[in-house]
Amino acid sequence: MNFNNYNIAIDGYAATGKSTLALALSLDLKMKFLNTGKMYRLVALFSNRNNYDQESLKRNLRKLKFRYQNNKIDIKNFSYDPLELELQEISDLSSKLSQLQFVRDYLTKIQKKILRRKGFVVEGRDIGTVVIPDAKIKFFLTVSDEEGAKRRFLEIKNKFKNLKYDEILLKIKERNENDKNRKLAPLIPAKDAIKIDTTNKSYDQVFNLIKAKILEIDKNDESA
Ligand code: C5P
Repeated sequence: MNFNNYNIAIDGYAATGKSTLALALSLDLKMKFLNTGKMYRLVALFSNRNNYDQESLKRNLRKLKFRYQNNKIDIKNFSYDPLELELQEISDLSSKLSQLQFVRDYLTKIQKKILRRKGFVVEGRDIGTVVIPDAKIKFFLTVSDEEGAKRRFLEIKNKFKNLKYDEILLKIKERNENDKNRKLAPLIPAKDAIKIDTTNKSYDQVFNLIKAKILEIDKNDESA
């Protein structure tokens, strides 16, 4: 069993637990982890800090030097509090900016380059369709908007005390609609993706389901 020869894509809706699952799976299988959602959030935070409009972001985007180190993606010489990436305005802005061709082109190119090395579990929206369509195993996770909002609410209620469930629900719906309906790299399952509806499943159930699938595919491959 050598998971360093291939990549695994985990795409899906907001609040499906993709990032947590992908990180946990990467640790469990001794693989690397790439969080592409974080890259869009970093672009949003950078843009927000500098008060950029679309044109100035376009001019300055290339100044963002992404670095992949110690299982983490970050930007060189850009410090921030991790909580900033989770602010609602940064979620909203990342969703908006992810519709722009120059932003997608820049980030997709960097992601493809990092993933050439193989051995990654990658989370995102377009990983199995655009970034690494040759990924060995692809998952596509969904969750009902209501259940997704409930999970997000429980996850962040201690960090952002003034957030209300109804607002989170509205924002999740909005972000999923934006992602599904955008022209570029929309959120759709790859033809060969394994689809998992996480709505009535616990985190552990989803983790075990994904891990079992990976081990099954890997085993069949070895004996082929
Ligand atoms: O996954 P996360 O919620 O952190 O992603 C933030 C936003 O970045 C998403 O709402 C989506 O619009 C965008 N995104 C994307 N393609 C990816 C990852 C994230 O368009 N591969």
